[in-house]
Amino acid sequence: AKNPVRVLVTGAAGQIGYALVPMIARGAMLGPDQPVILHMLDIEPAAEALNGVKMELIDAAFPLLKGVVATTDVAEACKDVNIAVMVGGFPRKEGMERKDVMSKNVSIYKAQASALEKHAAPDCKVLVVANPANTNALILKEFAPSIPEKNITCLTRLDHNRALGQISERLNVHVSDVKNVIIWGNHSSTQYPDVNHATVTTSSGEKSVREIVIDDNWLNSEFITTVQQRGAAIIKARKLSSALSAASSACDHIRNWVLGTPKGTWVSMGVYSDGSYGIQEGLIYSFPVTCEKGEWSIVQGLKIDEFSRAKMDATAKELAEEKSLAYSCLN
Ligand code: NDP
Repeated sequence: AKNPVRVLVTGAAGQIGYALVPMIARGAMLGPDQPVILHMLDIEPAAEALNGVKMELIDAAFPLLKGVVATTDVAEACKDVNIAVMVGGFPRKEGMERKDVMSKNVSIYKAQASALEKHAAPDCKVLVVANPANTNALILKEFAPSIPEKNITCLTRLDHNRALGQISERLNVHVSDVKNVIIWGNHSSTQYPDVNHATVTTSSGEKSVREIVIDDNWLNSEFITTVQQRGAAIIKARKLSSALSAASSACDHIRNWVLGTPKGTWVSMGVYSDGSYGIQEGLIYSFPVTCEKGEWSIVQGLKIDEFSRAKMDATAKELAEEKSLAYSCLN
């Protein structure tokens, strides 16, 4: 039997956490034959609720779940973890300035960087979900210099999956027959969902999405804004932000990273830019990646037209601004 993998979920008593931990315990993140030990962290005011989640995990009698640590102690939570999913964060409340939210979150991520550095397994893979996800991940990277930068990522897989979903609805095909959309940039409304390289499997073979959708107007405007604003649409409908889809895509992100992407398929991940596609180094930016043997690599050589270039640069510019705001909050 395989040794259990230790998976940390921060903010585990929150709504994404509540959807995410049972998925991990069922094998949706690491596969149906991989035992797990869940480490759940939350803050003191949420301690009782967190304990309730632990009770439910016990009651669900998950065969793969070999242990549960529920704690408000960061060091204990991070101890020997192999995977860290960072969902905990300060939500933006009415009347708060962007800078106030940023300031709260970057100090949280600075502190958690040190805890991960000290206590996590040396090869720990980190996924940041809490917003501003790219910038929180960047701060985590900067303040955890001993964690390899390739191990620190942020979630844009939900946006990627939303784009697949919109194409599949539009064409009335199964979502699993659509692939290779790309989310470029920031997990914010400036993200650029790009379908120029996406394909659909049809009864007469693989076709490009542009060829089948025909309506360029829809692809160049409504499709993009629908994906960019899907989070707000969910809040309007549910009176709560997206949780099950965020949790599910966090599992997708880690599963593909650890177990690999299928041949011929890429996914979107926020990763530390190496300058690919002219995106400045020093930002955590969402790129198309393939994964093999536990490592991602950015898909190279895709043709970028002028329309895409402008949108890719605009979202990079926003990330550079967020980065300076984050640093001004820390000083
Ligand atoms: P959620 O579980 O709904 O969301 C958690 C974080 O994920 C938020 O930052 C949220 O950003 C972000 N997020 C990223 N992508 C998405 C997405 N697609 N849809 C929805 N959210 C997304 O928040 P809760 O308030 O229910 O839970 C947060 C938990 O964190 C609580 O249990 C709280 O106690 C804990 N917490 C921990 C702190 C710490 O570690 N020091 C500090 C404060 C809270 P957005 O706000 O933009 O929706």
